[in-house]
Amino acid sequence: LEFCRVLPKIELHAHLNGSLSEKTLKSLGCLNKSVSEYQGLTSINNKIERTLHECFELFKIAHLATKNPDSVYLAAQSVIKDFADDNVRYLELRTTPRAEDGMTKEEYIESVVKAIKDSKKPLVKLILSVDRRHDILVSQNTVAVILSMRNKYPDIIKGIDLSGNPHLGCFDKELFNKAKENGLKTTIHCAEIINNDEVMEILNFGPNRIGHATFLNPNYSGSIENWESYCKKKIPAEFCLTSNVVCGTAKSYKEHHMQEWIKNGLPFSINTDDKGVFCTSLSEEYEHAQNNFNLSNTDLWTIAYNAIDHSFASIQEKALMKKELKEWKTQNQ
Ligand code: IMP
Repeated sequence: LEFCRVLPKIELHAHLNGSLSEKTLKSLGCLNKSVSEYQGLTSINNKIERTLHECFELFKIAHLATKNPDSVYLAAQSVIKDFADDNVRYLELRTTPRAEDGMTKEEYIESVVKAIKDSKKPLVKLILSVDRRHDILVSQNTVAVILSMRNKYPDIIKGIDLSGNPHLGCFDKELFNKAKENGLKTTIHCAEIINNDEVMEILNFGPNRIGHATFLNPNYSGSIENWESYCKKKIPAEFCLTSNVVCGTAKSYKEHHMQEWIKNGLPFSINTDDKGVFCTSLSEEYEHAQNNFNLSNTDLWTIAYNAIDHSFASIQEKALMKKELKEWKTQNQ
């Protein structure tokens, strides 16, 4: 684990409320009962497998802790610090703007942006999520809010994501075209469950990245047509090993679909998804990849280095990060 810890890493797929540590949940005054319920459900003491539905129940508990602008700020601040402590040099944090208890979606976003601005390291960019379970009117409103906030903070708000329970709702091309035409980068949770029709629509749309990509390869119930289309487009995939194993969509680390990307030389990054819910860290995710796919330290360095190109950072920021990683490699060889 030592190498994985000291390696400068790039995190591209982390949901804010799924990343809250137990300590942060407690400090945010989340009811003790909720915290113990949360601990019971997360894999803290026992890496028990859960269904996707059970995993999604956990987010409701995390959301209890971030119901006003101050707690959203503190939550974002502590998650950013956790990643910095794990030697993450660049973080793309994603979150679904929520309006509740008198807090507007704009205020929610302002709080996260302020936490990002106040943090010294790592370099952080924000991706705003549309929740699959929301109807089209709510989603249109979310996209309008995201676009207006992006205009206010163009250096921080870089992208839009589609996430939420994959059993609910669907991918709406119009909505994401609007975001794309307005200059936002797009990343879509794709093939988390077997749904070849939706996967085809997503691939035809052509997002900048896709999340999970669990059931895309034909050895994992994907259609040959979709896989061929994917291999032509080579859209970088964001992999989250522990999340998939705990939710039971991947049978084990060894059987994770990442192996198809390695075998076929396709682009991917390694990420945490929800480090709080799945009790993991980016270092541990790199270690799982190393142990299960026979990767050398240089392979891990290359995965981190390639993730820079997949990121939504500016050309200048990417150049600086590449320089830093190259220097680190020279000093640590
Ligand atoms: P938030 O967007 O900061 O509130 O982070 C939690 C939310 O992220 C959840 O309520 C889901 O909508 C989304 N999310 C987290 N993990 C996953 C996943 O594995 N698949 C799909 N959506 C997810």
